[in-house]
Amino acid sequence: MSAPKLLVFASPSGGGKTSIIKALLERHPEFQFSVSATTRAMRPGETDGSDYCYLTRERFEELISAGDLVEHEQLYGNYYGTLKSETDRALNAGASMVFDIDVRGGLAIKAMYGARAVLMFIAPPSIEVLEERLRGRGTEDEATVRRRMERTAMEMEMGKQFDFTVVNDDLAKAIDDVDALIMKQLSQ
Ligand code: ADP
Ligand code: 5GP
Repeated sequence: MSAPKLLVFASPSGGGKTSIIKALLERHPEFQFSVSATTRAMRPGETDGSDYCYLTRERFEELISAGDLVEHEQLYGNYYGTLKSETDRALNAGASMVFDIDVRGGLAIKAMYGARAVLMFIAPPSIEVLEERLRGRGTEDEATVRRRMERTAMEMEMGKQFDFTVVNDDLAKAIDDVDALIMKQLSQ
Protein backbone atom coordinates (compact mmCIF):
# COMPACT_ATOMS: atom_id res chain seq x y z
CA MET A 1 0.00 0.00 0.00
CA SER A 2 1.17 3.53 -0.77
CA ALA A 3 0.89 6.56 1.51
CA PRO A 4 -2.62 7.29 2.78
CA LYS A 5 -4.78 9.52 0.64
CA LEU A 6 -7.44 12.16 1.05
CA LEU A 7 -10.43 10.57 -0.71
CA VAL A 8 -12.70 13.42 -1.72
CA PHE A 9 -16.31 12.86 -2.85
CA ALA A 10 -18.48 15.54 -4.37
CA SER A 11 -21.69 15.53 -6.38
CA PRO A 12 -24.75 17.67 -6.87
CA SER A 13 -27.05 17.43 -3.86
CA GLY A 14 -28.92 14.09 -4.09
CA GLY A 15 -26.19 12.54 -6.28
CA GLY A 16 -25.63 9.74 -3.79
CA LYS A 17 -22.29 10.59 -2.20
CA THR A 18 -23.52 10.08 1.38
CA SER A 19 -24.93 6.63 0.47
CA ILE A 20 -21.71 5.63 -1.28
CA ILE A 21 -19.46 6.94 1.50
CA LYS A 22 -21.49 5.11 4.15
CA ALA A 23 -21.03 1.78 2.32
CA LEU A 24 -17.35 2.48 1.74
CA LEU A 25 -16.71 3.19 5.43
CA GLU A 26 -18.48 -0.05 6.35
CA ARG A 27 -16.25 -1.99 3.96
CA HIS A 28 -13.11 -0.19 5.09
CA PRO A 29 -13.17 0.55 8.81
CA GLU A 30 -9.54 1.64 8.48
CA PHE A 31 -10.69 4.78 6.63
CA GLN A 32 -11.49 7.84 8.71
CA PHE A 33 -14.34 10.22 7.87
CA SER A 34 -13.67 13.95 7.92
CA VAL A 35 -16.45 15.42 10.06
CA SER A 36 -17.14 18.89 8.64
CA ALA A 37 -18.45 21.87 10.54
CA THR A 38 -21.77 23.34 9.44
CA THR A 39 -24.37 25.87 10.51
CA ARG A 40 -27.26 23.95 8.91
CA ALA A 41 -29.87 22.30 11.12
CA MET A 42 -29.39 18.66 12.02
CA ARG A 43 -31.55 16.25 9.96
CA PRO A 44 -33.44 13.39 11.61
CA GLY A 45 -31.06 10.46 11.93
CA GLU A 46 -27.93 12.61 12.01
CA THR A 47 -25.60 12.75 15.01
CA ASP A 48 -23.61 15.74 16.21
CA GLY A 49 -19.88 14.96 16.02
CA SER A 50 -20.35 12.03 13.59
CA ASP A 51 -22.20 13.48 10.59
CA TYR A 52 -21.21 17.09 11.18
CA CYS A 53 -20.16 19.37 14.01
CA TYR A 54 -23.26 21.61 14.16
CA LEU A 55 -22.29 25.16 15.03
CA THR A 56 -23.89 28.58 15.33
CA ARG A 57 -22.89 31.15 12.70
CA GLU A 58 -21.03 33.05 15.40
CA ARG A 59 -18.94 30.04 16.38
CA PHE A 60 -18.29 29.15 12.73
CA GLU A 61 -17.07 32.69 12.04
CA GLU A 62 -14.74 32.42 15.04
CA LEU A 63 -13.21 29.29 13.47
CA ILE A 64 -12.72 31.14 10.17
CA SER A 65 -10.96 34.01 11.97
CA ALA A 66 -8.79 31.62 13.97
CA GLY A 67 -7.66 29.83 10.77
CA ASP A 68 -9.08 26.53 12.05
CA LEU A 69 -10.67 25.59 8.69
CA VAL A 70 -8.78 24.16 5.72
CA GLU A 71 -11.53 25.43 3.41
CA HIS A 72 -15.09 26.62 3.78
CA GLU A 73 -18.05 27.62 1.60
CA GLN A 74 -21.45 29.20 2.03
CA LEU A 75 -24.00 26.88 0.44
CA TYR A 76 -27.77 27.28 0.43
CA GLY A 77 -27.54 29.95 3.13
CA ASN A 78 -25.35 27.93 5.51
CA TYR A 79 -21.64 27.61 6.19
CA TYR A 80 -19.85 24.32 5.61
CA GLY A 81 -16.14 23.78 6.23
CA THR A 82 -13.36 21.25 6.69
CA LEU A 83 -11.74 21.39 10.11
CA LYS A 84 -7.96 21.51 10.13
CA SER A 85 -8.08 19.24 13.20
CA GLU A 86 -9.72 16.56 11.01
CA THR A 87 -7.12 16.57 8.22
CA ASP A 88 -4.33 16.66 10.85
CA ARG A 89 -5.94 13.69 12.60
CA ALA A 90 -5.80 11.56 9.45
CA LEU A 91 -2.35 12.62 8.38
CA ASN A 92 -0.93 12.05 11.87
CA ALA A 93 -2.60 8.65 12.19
CA GLY A 94 -1.35 7.59 8.75
CA ALA A 95 -4.94 6.78 7.72
CA SER A 96 -6.78 7.56 4.51
CA MET A 97 -9.57 10.02 5.08
CA VAL A 98 -12.91 10.33 3.27
CA PHE A 99 -14.38 13.78 2.59
CA ASP A 100 -18.00 14.60 1.68
CA ILE A 101 -17.71 18.17 0.41
CA ASP A 102 -18.90 20.37 -2.42
CA VAL A 103 -17.06 20.63 -5.75
CA ARG A 104 -15.28 23.88 -4.89
CA GLY A 105 -14.15 22.50 -1.55
CA GLY A 106 -12.83 19.42 -3.35
CA LEU A 107 -10.79 21.52 -5.75
CA ALA A 108 -9.44 23.56 -2.81
CA ILE A 109 -8.29 20.33 -1.10
CA LYS A 110 -6.59 19.25 -4.36
CA ALA A 111 -4.81 22.61 -4.63
CA MET A 112 -3.49 22.17 -1.09
CA TYR A 113 -2.63 18.47 -1.00
CA GLY A 114 -1.84 17.73 -4.68
CA ALA A 115 -1.35 14.04 -5.48
CA ARG A 116 -2.27 13.05 -1.91
CA ALA A 117 -5.87 14.02 -2.75
CA VAL A 118 -8.00 11.82 -5.03
CA LEU A 119 -11.10 13.63 -6.29
CA MET A 120 -14.15 11.54 -7.12
CA PHE A 121 -17.20 13.07 -8.71
CA ILE A 122 -20.44 11.15 -8.28
CA ALA A 123 -22.69 11.97 -11.22
CA PRO A 124 -26.42 11.24 -11.40
CA PRO A 125 -27.69 9.28 -14.43
CA SER A 126 -29.68 12.39 -15.41
CA ILE A 127 -30.83 15.71 -13.95
CA GLU A 128 -34.42 14.39 -13.80
CA VAL A 129 -33.38 11.37 -11.74
CA LEU A 130 -31.30 13.63 -9.49
CA GLU A 131 -34.30 15.84 -8.74
CA GLU A 132 -36.48 12.79 -8.07
CA ARG A 133 -33.94 11.39 -5.61
CA LEU A 134 -33.49 14.71 -3.85
CA ARG A 135 -37.24 15.08 -3.40
CA GLY A 136 -37.57 11.40 -2.51
CA ARG A 137 -35.08 11.86 0.34
CA GLY A 138 -37.65 14.15 1.90
CA THR A 139 -35.17 16.11 4.00
CA GLU A 140 -35.55 19.52 2.35
CA ASP A 141 -38.51 21.80 1.82
CA GLU A 142 -39.51 22.83 -1.70
CA ALA A 143 -37.55 26.11 -1.65
CA THR A 144 -34.37 24.33 -0.55
CA VAL A 145 -34.78 21.62 -3.21
CA ARG A 146 -34.99 24.40 -5.84
CA ARG A 147 -31.93 26.16 -4.45
CA ARG A 148 -29.99 22.91 -4.51
CA MET A 149 -31.09 22.14 -8.09
CA GLU A 150 -29.99 25.63 -9.22
CA ARG A 151 -26.36 24.74 -8.49
CA THR A 152 -26.43 21.49 -10.45
CA ALA A 153 -25.21 22.76 -13.83
CA MET A 154 -22.25 24.54 -12.24
CA GLU A 155 -21.40 21.44 -10.19
CA MET A 156 -21.57 19.13 -13.22
CA GLU A 157 -19.25 21.50 -15.07
CA MET A 158 -16.73 21.81 -12.22
CA GLY A 159 -16.87 18.05 -11.69
CA LYS A 160 -15.02 17.69 -15.02
CA GLN A 161 -11.88 18.83 -13.21
CA PHE A 162 -12.07 15.88 -10.81
CA ASP A 163 -9.73 12.90 -11.18
CA PHE A 164 -12.57 10.38 -11.66
CA THR A 165 -16.29 10.38 -12.37
CA VAL A 166 -18.56 7.51 -11.31
CA VAL A 167 -22.16 7.50 -12.52
CA ASN A 168 -24.52 6.48 -9.73
CA ASP A 169 -27.23 4.63 -11.63
CA ASP A 170 -27.33 1.33 -9.77
CA LEU A 171 -26.12 2.07 -6.23
CA ALA A 172 -24.48 -1.32 -5.61
CA LYS A 173 -22.51 -1.02 -8.86
CA ALA A 174 -21.47 2.57 -8.08
CA ILE A 175 -20.17 1.42 -4.68
CA ASP A 176 -18.17 -1.40 -6.32
CA ASP A 177 -16.79 1.00 -8.97
CA VAL A 178 -15.71 3.53 -6.33
CA ASP A 179 -14.17 0.81 -4.17
CA ALA A 180 -12.19 -0.59 -7.11
CA LEU A 181 -10.92 2.87 -8.08
CA ILE A 182 -9.79 3.62 -4.55
CA MET A 183 -8.06 0.28 -4.11
CA LYS A 184 -6.17 0.94 -7.34
CA GLN A 185 -5.13 4.40 -6.15
CA LEU A 186 -3.98 3.08 -2.79
CA SER A 187 -1.94 0.30 -4.37
CA GLN A 188 0.05 2.67 -6.60
P1 ADP B 1 -26.04 13.19 -1.46
O1 ADP B 1 -25.31 12.81 -0.21
O2 ADP B 1 -25.14 13.25 -2.65
O3 ADP B 1 -26.87 14.43 -1.32
P2 ADP B 1 -27.70 10.81 -0.87
O4 ADP B 1 -26.72 9.73 -0.66
O5 ADP B 1 -28.36 11.42 0.33
O6 ADP B 1 -27.06 11.99 -1.80
O7 ADP B 1 -28.81 10.26 -1.89
C1 ADP B 1 -29.98 11.03 -2.19
C2 ADP B 1 -31.20 10.10 -2.15
O8 ADP B 1 -31.14 9.18 -3.25
C3 ADP B 1 -31.27 9.24 -0.89
O9 ADP B 1 -32.62 9.11 -0.51
C4 ADP B 1 -30.69 7.90 -1.34
O10 ADP B 1 -31.21 6.82 -0.59
C5 ADP B 1 -31.11 7.84 -2.80
N1 ADP B 1 -30.16 7.13 -3.70
C6 ADP B 1 -28.82 7.23 -3.73
N2 ADP B 1 -28.30 6.49 -4.74
C7 ADP B 1 -29.35 5.92 -5.37
C8 ADP B 1 -29.47 5.01 -6.49
N3 ADP B 1 -28.42 4.59 -7.19
N4 ADP B 1 -30.72 4.64 -6.87
C9 ADP B 1 -31.81 5.08 -6.20
N5 ADP B 1 -31.76 5.91 -5.12
C10 ADP B 1 -30.56 6.33 -4.72
P1 5GP C 1 -25.84 18.61 3.07
O1 5GP C 1 -26.55 19.80 3.67
O2 5GP C 1 -26.68 17.91 2.02
O3 5GP C 1 -25.29 17.66 4.12
O4 5GP C 1 -24.56 19.16 2.30
C1 5GP C 1 -24.69 20.19 1.36
C2 5GP C 1 -23.39 20.30 0.58
O5 5GP C 1 -22.34 20.74 1.45
C3 5GP C 1 -22.93 18.98 -0.01
O6 5GP C 1 -22.47 19.23 -1.34
C4 5GP C 1 -21.78 18.60 0.87
O7 5GP C 1 -20.86 17.77 0.23
C5 5GP C 1 -21.20 19.97 1.17
N1 5GP C 1 -20.27 19.98 2.30
C6 5GP C 1 -20.33 19.26 3.43
N2 5GP C 1 -19.28 19.52 4.21
C7 5GP C 1 -18.50 20.41 3.55
C8 5GP C 1 -17.25 21.04 3.83
O8 5GP C 1 -16.60 20.82 4.85
N3 5GP C 1 -16.79 21.90 2.89
C9 5GP C 1 -17.44 22.16 1.74
N4 5GP C 1 -16.87 23.01 0.89
N5 5GP C 1 -18.62 21.59 1.44
C10 5GP C 1 -19.14 20.72 2.33
